[in-house]
Order: sequence, then C-alpha cells, then structure tokens
Amino acid sequence: MTGRRTWWRRWRAADWPTRVGPRLALAFLLVAALLPLIGLIAEREQRIAGARDAQVEAQHLARVIAAEVGDDVHDGRQLDPATVQPYLDNLKRQIGGEVEIVDLRRGSVADTMPAGVPGLGADPDGQIAATLRDGLIRAITRGGAGSAAKLMVVPIRAPDDGIVGALVLDYSGLYGQVLAAGAPSRRLTLGAGLAGMAVALGLGWTFSRGLVRDVRRLTQTAARYAEGDYDTRAEVKSRGELRELAEALNTMAERIAQRRAELVDLATTDPLTGLPNRRALRAGLTRELDQARRRGVPFSLILLDLDHFKAVNDEYGHLAGDLVLRQVGQILQSQVRSTDLAGRHGGEEFAVLLPDTGRDAALRTAERVRAALSGTPIEFQGHTVRVTASLGVVTYPEDGLTSEELVRRADVALYAAKRAGRDRVHSPPAA
Ligand code: GH3
Ligand code: MG
Ligand code: MG
Repeated sequence: MTGRRTWWRRWRAADWPTRVGPRLALAFLLVAALLPLIGLIAEREQRIAGARDAQVEAQHLARVIAAEVGDDVHDGRQLDPATVQPYLDNLKRQIGGEVEIVDLRRGSVADTMPAGVPGLGADPDGQIAATLRDGLIRAITRGGAGSAAKLMVVPIRAPDDGIVGALVLDYSGLYGQVLAAGAPSRRLTLGAGLAGMAVALGLGWTFSRGLVRDVRRLTQTAARYAEGDYDTRAEVKSRGELRELAEALNTMAERIAQRRAELVDLATTDPLTGLPNRRALRAGLTRELDQARRRGVPFSLILLDLDHFKAVNDEYGHLAGDLVLRQVGQILQSQVRSTDLAGRHGGEEFAVLLPDTGRDAALRTAERVRAALSGTPIEFQGHTVRVTASLGVVTYPEDGLTSEELVRRADVALYAAKRAGRDRVHSPPAA
C-alpha cells in the first residue's frame, strides 16, 4: 500500500496538471472523444431505422397474405386447410420467410415449414392469443439474443370483418438482409467518427505543441531579462497574442537597455567637459590593473593639475574658468591615442590611463600634452588666456602594484613638478 500512496503523492505533488501542455492535451482529448461518440449514436440510429424498415415491409407482406386468406372464408365458416395450404405452397417461394396460419383455437391450419420443423404457433407469452382477441398487429421477438426470431402476427378477418385466425410471419431473414445491406454505411459512420477523432487529436497535438514551445520560449526570455541579459530577443512561431507578447517583451528589453546605457553614461561622464569622470577613471584603472597583471604588460597613469587656475577664476570669473576647463579637455583628448582613457579627475585635475605603455612612452605623451597646453592660447570674450599644467607620471609595475599606491605616487610626482616651478612633467625617482 505504501507504494501506491507514494505514487499518488508524487502525482499530486507534480506540477504537470497545472501546466499548459497537459491541460491543452486533456481538452483536445475530451473534444476529440465526442466525434466517435457521435459516430456511435449515428450508427445506432441507422440500425434502428433498418429494423423499422424491415418491420414495415414484413407487416405489409403479412397483411396482404392475411387479406387473401381471409377473403376465402364465407358465411361463418372456419379456415379450411384444404384451400389455405395450397395457397401458401404457391406463395412460398415469393415470401422469403416462413408463415404459419392458426385458427381461433391456435390450432395450425397451414404452414410453409418443411416437415419435422416445429411451427410458429407456440405462444408462450400469449401474444398470438392477444391478436386473435383484439385484432391488433404485433411484432414479437422469440428466443435468445443470438438466435432471436422476428415474428409478425397479423389477424385474419373474414369478409364480414370477424376474426377467423392469425397469420404468423417469421421475417428474421428479411430483417437480417436489411441490416446486412446497411452494414457498410454503418461501418463508414463509425470509421468517420474514429478518423475524425484521430485528425482532431493530431491537429490538437501539433497546435498545442507549438503553443507550449512558444510559452516556454517567452518564459526563458523573461528569465534572461531578469538576469540582466537585455540582448536576448523573444522569438515565437505563433501569431496573435503570443506574438504580441513577444514583441512587447522585445520592446521592453530595448527600452531597458537604452535607459541603462543612458544611466551608465550619466554616471560615468563629466557633465562640464563630456570626458569620462572620476568614477569611470577609477573603473578603468581597476580594469587596466587586472589585465596588466594577467598579461604581464606595463601600463601608465598621468595625473595633471592646472597651474594657478584659481587666478583664472579670480580674474575672468567662474564661467570663464568653466570654458577653459572644457578647452583643456579637448586639447588633452587631441594629444592621446583612442585606446588611452583621458578623463576629468575632479576640479581642475585631469588624468590619462595609457594601456600597454611603459615609462618612456608615457613621459613622451605627458610632455606632448604639457607642450600642447602651454602652446595653445585659449580665447574667450576678447581675452586670451594661456594655461599651463603640472603632470605626474607613474608606471605599473615599477611605481606601484595597487591602484591606491599608483595614484598616491602620481600625486607625489605632480606636486614635485609644482614645487619644481610648474609647467613640467615629473615621475617618481627610479628605485
Ligand atoms: P596650483 O594648482 O598651481 O597650486 O594653483 P591652483 O590655483 O590651481 O590651485 P588650487 O587647487 O588652490 O585652485 C584650484 C581652483 O580650481 C579652485 C577652484 O575655484 C577651481 N575650480 C575647481 N573646479 C572648478 C570648476 O569646475 N570650474 C571652475 N571655474 N573652477 C574650478
Ligand atoms: Mg588642484
Ligand atoms: Mg591647480
């Protein structure tokens, strides 16, 4: 019993009854099962209609014979075997079923049965007696299910309308023929029902498989968005709502990626100069340190501070100072490679990260920047300002192994340049 309980528990615990696929499959199965059911009902109706046709025909035949036999009975006389039997013998070949004629006491008057075969007049349920009494036509079934005999009991009336006997017609043969004639059409009905079910199930399976696959794809895409991967795009094969949902998801991902890029830009760009800000420089330094350690190559860092910048602000105003800072940013950027990262470190301090660059090359770049600054007059509102800068240059790994140490030593070198008279480049003394 434990085995069965675990099975039951596992079935209940499984989530498949709540999933889309099994639910759709069940729905299609139920709808598809209606088709053979309809086929079965139609087949039964056809069988009943066939039985009714056989009955109508048998009744018509029995009444014609009964009328003929009754016409010969005159003036209160009884049925006469001597005239009835030859008449039946004559008809026998045309009837296609055995006939027995009984008189009012249910005694056999004539029949078409070969000698030795029991007649049809046995009346265990009193149906023949009932017809003799009330003159109603009766269709009765005798015997077991397999060998059931279909009998039609018709009253025989004399010309004066009095009942003189009954005709019992065994129409089992006719019944069998009618049913056999309808069998192909009934088989077709059943077959069409089953074929319909197969087609409905096949279509349902194909349709629900596509639907389930698309739902699963959408879920996976949404999960990837949740993990922060906004490059993924949802693709579905189906049209309609699922396609719309996929398009909505894709639009959402595009907007999020766009917004995120804007935010990253906002967080890493200095608004005044448009250069990378201190945060971006810090991130760049960490990244560069990481790569240099891994690849075993040097890199350099230049720190730059404008000389006597306070005087520019004091003399021309803060807005003029801002303009000068923007110009300095442009001059700085024009002097470095596109792979170098030039940014505003804060205030009137700038920095340049030079990947794959040793001390000598870095000193040359710093000197070029210094010369460009001092050699480029900055014009504004009819004034011309000349700015100079002091620069400190450090190189990984000889001047430091961590970003803190490198920045600190670059600062030290920069202030050494200031103390030495400004407008110059300094690097830490060789160890
Ligand atoms: P030195 O570095 O040569 O010793 O002299 P300095 O005058 O440049 O030194 P200090 O650090 O004392 O002055 C820096 C000035 O830079 C002070 C501040 O007003 C100015 N400054 C810093 N950030 C900005 C800014 O965003 N816009 C403007 N207009 N001025 C700024
Ligand atoms: Mg300063
Ligand atoms: Mg300064």
